[in-house]
Amino acid sequence: MKPFGYVRATTLQEATEAHAAHPGSRYLGGGTNLVDLMKLGVETPGTLVDISRLPLHAIEELPGGALRIGATARNTDVAAHPLVRARYPALAQALLAGASAQLRNVATTGGNLLQRTRCTYFQDVSKACNKREPGTGCAARDGIHRDHAVLGHSAHCIATHPSDLAVALAALDAGIELYGAGGATRTVAATDFHRLPGDHPEQDTVLRGGEIVTAVLVPAAAPGSVSLYRKARDRASYAFALASIAAVLDLDGDTGRIRRVALAFGGLAHRPWRATTAERALTGAEPTADAFREAAEAELAEARPLRDNAHKVVLARNLACDALGTLHARARRSP
Ligand code: SF4
Repeated sequence: MKPFGYVRATTLQEATEAHAAHPGSRYLGGGTNLVDLMKLGVETPGTLVDISRLPLHAIEELPGGALRIGATARNTDVAAHPLVRARYPALAQALLAGASAQLRNVATTGGNLLQRTRCTYFQDVSKACNKREPGTGCAARDGIHRDHAVLGHSAHCIATHPSDLAVALAALDAGIELYGAGGATRTVAATDFHRLPGDHPEQDTVLRGGEIVTAVLVPAAAPGSVSLYRKARDRASYAFALASIAAVLDLDGDTGRIRRVALAFGGLAHRPWRATTAERALTGAEPTADAFREAAEAELAEARPLRDNAHKVVLARNLACDALGTLHARARRSP
């Protein structure tokens, strides 16, 4: 591993100032992805600015019922929190579907969102990769790409984003709270936080230089709404999604029709894929198996599978139908 400097920040201001003072530095949270990438030579920061001890670990209810999850809250603690379990099952299930128990004990909320693709060519410095080294090409396009994107990919990159948490947050209409140089703060919708690859796959997110994720804001859950997260993968645990879905369903108590639905796919694109076409088709509709399938197929009509990953489109459709059918049954049982 390349030698690097280390600075431990005790305030947000200290952190951004240290980042600015050390060009090419990286913020260190739990380190579960970054340190691995440093060992592989994929990430070579001159300095690590340790933000893991900033006071950003609280999980708190806000007036009005929204939830604020601090960026250094550990994945295990968020998944186990009573408010998360009671009101946002999709969030708890997404976290528990990710990594291993040991990793979840260390990994942070912010770090989970900022983890990088597990494309094997990205992690192998001997291979061409536009994300790791812009302009070098994409070895995955003609290589082994059964795990890669079917939606929103570009000629420059076909990687998927690996976070399960990000998918749940996209369906829950969460916001990502950021702190930047000079103390500037802003909140970005979770659906807008990660980018499609386009011409610049080296940019995973819309973060500006030196910005820190400080919290995730999850709006209050609508009374009676139900949610879940489902993930299809090659083995039952400690594996990334081939396809996944986070779904939220709210039925009209009088008509039984769908009042509101939110769907986000994981494992299909360079960012969580909010299924707005399917949502539009389902809003106000009768919640039937046919309606679920037709909406999922309408959404996935946009898919452009590669040579070896057309199975993902079928997986995603079936996950959507299963998730919506399950939520429909639960919603009917809810008081
Ligand atoms: Fe790199 Fe993206 Fe191609 Fe993977 S898919 S090799 S991350 S450019």
